[in-house]
Amino acid sequence: MEQTMLLHNLKDHSEKVSFIQAVKTGLGRDQGVFFPENLTPIADIDALLELDFVTRSSKILSHLIGDELSSEQVAAMVARAFNFDLKLVEVEKNIYCLELYHGPTLAFKDFGGRFMAECLAEFSQGNKTTILTATSGDTGAAVAHAFYKKDNIDVVILYPKGKISLAQQKLFTTLGENIHCYAVDGSFDDCQAMVKAAFLDNEVKQRLGLNSANSINISRLVAQVCYYFEALARLPKAQRAQAHVSVPSGNFGNVCAAMIGAVIGLPAAKLSATTNQNDTVPRFLHNKEWQPAATKESLSNAMDVSRPNNWPRVQYMLDHNWFSYDNFYSHAIDEQTTQAAMHHLNQLGYLAEPHTAIAYEGLKRDLAADGVGVFLATAHPAKFKESVEGILDIKLEMPKPLSDALAKPCLAVDLVNDYHVLREALLVKLG
Ligand SMILES: *Cc1c(COP(=O)(O)O)cnc(C)c1O
Repeated sequence: MEQTMLLHNLKDHSEKVSFIQAVKTGLGRDQGVFFPENLTPIADIDALLELDFVTRSSKILSHLIGDELSSEQVAAMVARAFNFDLKLVEVEKNIYCLELYHGPTLAFKDFGGRFMAECLAEFSQGNKTTILTATSGDTGAAVAHAFYKKDNIDVVILYPKGKISLAQQKLFTTLGENIHCYAVDGSFDDCQAMVKAAFLDNEVKQRLGLNSANSINISRLVAQVCYYFEALARLPKAQRAQAHVSVPSGNFGNVCAAMIGAVIGLPAAKLSATTNQNDTVPRFLHNKEWQPAATKESLSNAMDVSRPNNWPRVQYMLDHNWFSYDNFYSHAIDEQTTQAAMHHLNQLGYLAEPHTAIAYEGLKRDLAADGVGVFLATAHPAKFKESVEGILDIKLEMPKPLSDALAKPCLAVDLVNDYHVLREALLVKLG
């Protein structure tokens, strides 16, 4: 039997919780994130890499979580969460692309989102739970699909009316059932402010059983560790040892998962966390000063983050020498270079949206001459249809999940930007 995972709050180390507590609480005191106190390597990595994706992922997650969940429980949750494909494509000699966008919402967030939903459903033990979240685009869809038709769980999603693309919006507003969407007459920040107000409102919090399911939840990170092992398993054996993995980074959750993987035995020698012009981390690595600037809008808008909330976890592993600073790279790629990388990939016969192109560009800069590289494709090109078509001067075909969603009616309800109106609506509908 594995030991139980014990996590501590990185802002207040005296606050310690188990995996289940960390998943249910989300954030710790002083808004601190939880992180495992210890990570132990998996014994036989070669044997692990021989297994199929779902079997191997169950083993990895059981190893990480420990005996707080039985291996049967974890196996069933993984089988339900990871029920879609992923691909490794050789783009040029010794450079491979790990495509993580073949899930229901066409972005890698499906992996973490779906496993988190499994956890929250499992841990809520039949108690009424309402997931309340604001979205500026991709997370809403991933959360909605992950919780769709789960018993005893309702999902409420607020989004700024008219400010997200039709494709993004239709991926969650067309579901119905236990997914309730509100189109707010305001900005994303207004939506977030209303979510915050609801969490401070004890009556609403209690009657609805509010839970945030936000992006720093530890269940997402552990789930994401699994696909890095799959990437390495698909590489020719001789190439695994030198593998260098490049991750397009915004909140730094995805690269944090890669690093956790490396700590427990993933044979990835080097990691690149490549950013767009929101370059707080590259500057920090350069001059050791943490100086977030105002967030800039870019083509890779899911990475428009200047205060990455998973960075403390990455830095903890680096500062404690769980992973060496010498093997960790982070460069910022500007808009023009992003477009050039999209063109370059297109000439190689590979179609990439901006986030993926940034990962490729970062890898090209950091990869040693004799290295083997894997870069992550985090979203389907069609999710960024306008920019991909404009930049590459091509016409994209819509993948089925998107064309299906676009054909259905939007079920969202309009909402004025006023918490009291939302409060009434929630209590009448779900209280
Ligand atoms: C969320 C997202 C990212 C950034 O991932 P982090 O874990 O926040 O670093 C990159 N690409 C796409 C398409 C995303 O949706």
